[in-house]
Amino acid sequence: MATIAEQLTGVRARIEAACRAAGRSPDEVALLAVSKTFDASAVLDAARAGQRAFGENYIQEAVDKMAAVHALVPDLAREFAWHCIGPIQSNKTRLVAEHFAWAHTVDRLKIAQRLSDQRPAHLPPLNICIQVNVDGGVNKSGASPDDALDLVRAVLQLPRLALRGLMAIPEPAPDFAAQLAMHQRARALFDAIAASGAAGLAQWDTLSLGMTGDLEAAVAAGSTLVRVGSGIFGARSYGPQADRALSQKL
Ligand SMILES: *Cc1c(COP(=O)(O)O)cnc(C)c1O
Repeated sequence: MATIAEQLTGVRARIEAACRAAGRSPDEVALLAVSKTFDASAVLDAARAGQRAFGENYIQEAVDKMAAVHALVPDLAREFAWHCIGPIQSNKTRLVAEHFAWAHTVDRLKIAQRLSDQRPAHLPPLNICIQVNVDGGVNKSGASPDDALDLVRAVLQLPRLALRGLMAIPEPAPDFAAQLAMHQRARALFDAIAASGAAGLAQWDTLSLGMTGDLEAAVAAGSTLVRVGSGIFGARSYGPQADRALSQKL
């Protein structure tokens, strides 16, 4: 079985090839290692191979993992950026505000407001992406594209947040063309908001799109940050169905 370091090298090569194919520079696309369900030792393996940005879905699991990593390697742990990429319920906003550098899954003002109110004064503003539901799945999280600009304008008023861009999780699509079409919807919305002239968009620079299965299409559409889990850490011991069930419980 390939090691985490080997898998990371493979994923970085995929990103570089996708950038070349799209006529983009590889340093326009950051890699977020999605370590949900994997333990602190897996995070450290990736960190020893140069990875510093980690994505987590389950907030309590993530906070426990951060503490474990910090206890093992305090100096290295200070270099990490933890990104919350799972659903954020109201009763979890404080943990997100206190422990994460980024939250990608803000899809309503109430959650943004709480994150801003609860962001500790000694930390820099929390980096935010607005999650948008680009394929219209009825039970999916994400703001509707029609509401995104209003939400952007409201979030820009919140003092302890730094609004960075959009995030989307399109349904798995059968081929590259179908994946690209969905990612391009997010890209078009990203560009439209950038062109809207909304005051305070100075840091509007992040399009969080693409996972293990569709990162090439995401890069082709303009992703600046791909979120890769199984491609780095291997198969998770429970699937998206159980992921959702667990996230409801947490
Ligand atoms: C789990 C997850 C990922 C990583 O998925 P892989 O297919 O394992 O790469 C990316 N983004 C989000 C929001 C996730 O929940």
